[in-house]
Amino acid sequence: KPVIGVLALQGDVREHVAALDVAGARAVTVRRPTELGGLDGLVLPGGESTTIDKLLRIFELFDPLRTAIRAGLPVYGSCAGMILLADRVLGATHDQQTLGGLDVTVRRNAFGRQVDSFESSVEMTGVPGGPVPAAFIRAPWVEETGPGVQVLARTRHRGAAAHARSGDEPDAGAAGTGDAAGRIVAVRQGTLLATSFHPEITGDARVHELFVAIVKE
Ligand code: GLN
Repeated sequence: KPVIGVLALQGDVREHVAALDVAGARAVTVRRPTELGGLDGLVLPGGESTTIDKLLRIFELFDPLRTAIRAGLPVYGSCAGMILLADRVLGATHDQQTLGGLDVTVRRNAFGRQVDSFESSVEMTGVPGGPVPAAFIRAPWVEETGPGVQVLARTRHRGAAAHARSGDEPDAGAAGTGDAAGRIVAVRQGTLLATSFHPEITGDARVHELFVAIVKE
């Protein structure tokens, strides 16, 4: 079994550990630089990217993790984890840094305050068996992708946000950031995988299975 770490500074760590177990990995929590050593892959959970960024620096994990990502450690980032993997962030706080590695521009809180949280489902390339249930919690979306980045999923054409607001006109009012339909919400670049949404809280481990397959490649 591949050993996959879950960064355990803040966020929904336990849910990722459970999903990784179902997906056939041995999940371990990571809080110290020395714990990066034996990993075959790492999950950056959802939470608050500004807080996780600060904690990464306090726990002296920021630089070792940056180095490990550049050296090819497979990483899956969900929601805040996607932001942490992104090379460029729109709506970052003034001192917010990211680990980077993923050649994308993400927009924080892109789906807007009035639709803070919604559940939808997305068709995702590399995930067989139909749409993946997806929880979007103050989620980012990907606005630009570099040439090496594969888009794996987008929000539904009739806006996922609109769907959550039960019957509203699709696409209306995603906080002035534009249309919530057809937005990029899952990407892959080499061994880096990122989703805007949380698949780990819906009891469906297929995105984690995809990550375990990437780790084994
Ligand atoms: N809005 C959060 C951030 O910017 C992400 C939310 C989440 O991970 N569910 O970090």
